[in-house]
Amino acid sequence: MCSMLVILSSCMSEETTYIEDSSFADICKNLPVEANRKLTLSDASSDWFQVYEAYEGIYSIVESYQFQMSISHLILGEKRALLFDTGMGILPIKPIVERITNLPITVLNSHTHFDHVGGNAEFAEILAIDSLYTKSNMQGFKHEEIAGDVASDAFCGEAPIGLNINTYHTRSWSANGYVSDGQEIDLGGRLLEVMHVPGHTPDAVALVDRENGLLFTGDTYYDDNLWLFSPETNLDDYTNTIDRLVKIEDKIKYLFGAHTSARVDAGKLAQVKASLAKLRSGNISPVKKIDGRQIYQIDGVNFVTSKFALEGKQGDTSKGASGL
Ligand SMILES: [Zn+2]
Repeated sequence: MCSMLVILSSCMSEETTYIEDSSFADICKNLPVEANRKLTLSDASSDWFQVYEAYEGIYSIVESYQFQMSISHLILGEKRALLFDTGMGILPIKPIVERITNLPITVLNSHTHFDHVGGNAEFAEILAIDSLYTKSNMQGFKHEEIAGDVASDAFCGEAPIGLNINTYHTRSWSANGYVSDGQEIDLGGRLLEVMHVPGHTPDAVALVDRENGLLFTGDTYYDDNLWLFSPETNLDDYTNTIDRLVKIEDKIKYLFGAHTSARVDAGKLAQVKASLAKLRSGNISPVKKIDGRQIYQIDGVNFVTSKFALEGKQGDTSKGASGL
């Protein structure tokens, strides 16, 4: 997928803002974003990764200086830790994780778009959804598919030292275990429930920590424009997923999305549900159309989608991500 707040060169030939008055350059000047400013910045942070203490035993690792603003969440138990996404793969994430904990790490991805699996190859223990889509994405994303994400205008300032912008790609990886809906992952003193939440991609998962009222939503929900235009997105599935998540939202305190804001108060999913119903009613016009993408602003929720997706269509997912 492409940027959250703006479309940059991976998606278009020139920088174009989706929503007036917001551009990545402006965001760069005002980092950290408001939600992250309220959290404690951990000593484990580096020049590239900002690590926020987002809750007791939850460390949110943010890549603020690249327009995706991807977030990987490290969830600690007493016996082991789960790393929910591994970021862009622009710089190694494992050294950061090892600054936070020496517990054994298991990786699980919120979904297998390139901006969430970039560091998978650094880890030995990886769980995944058993799907052709996921397995195809395990081959890694080639430089030409994601070169726009390391173009000069993709960063706040210069590209980080240690990144070769001419060869940047994500390495292949493999899973050594599979998860399915309803499965529990016991970290020791912290139980996580896996929810298979297709929609944004066929292999999207959410994690629930019921005891603490925490919900990790991946790209199903984050505090920014919601991207629902990839051919692998299925709006019927997404609608069912949002309905399912809303049903548990009254027991949730905080939502942890995979871009931009590390943690937001629960309640947003109900707003997405209401706005999504209006989007799908066909009675609302997009505020903008850019290269086949349609941008909607509905009661405080912004969607970036397509005519294809709105017609309930979905591309062939067996060959992995479209690169969009
Ligand atoms: Zn995604």
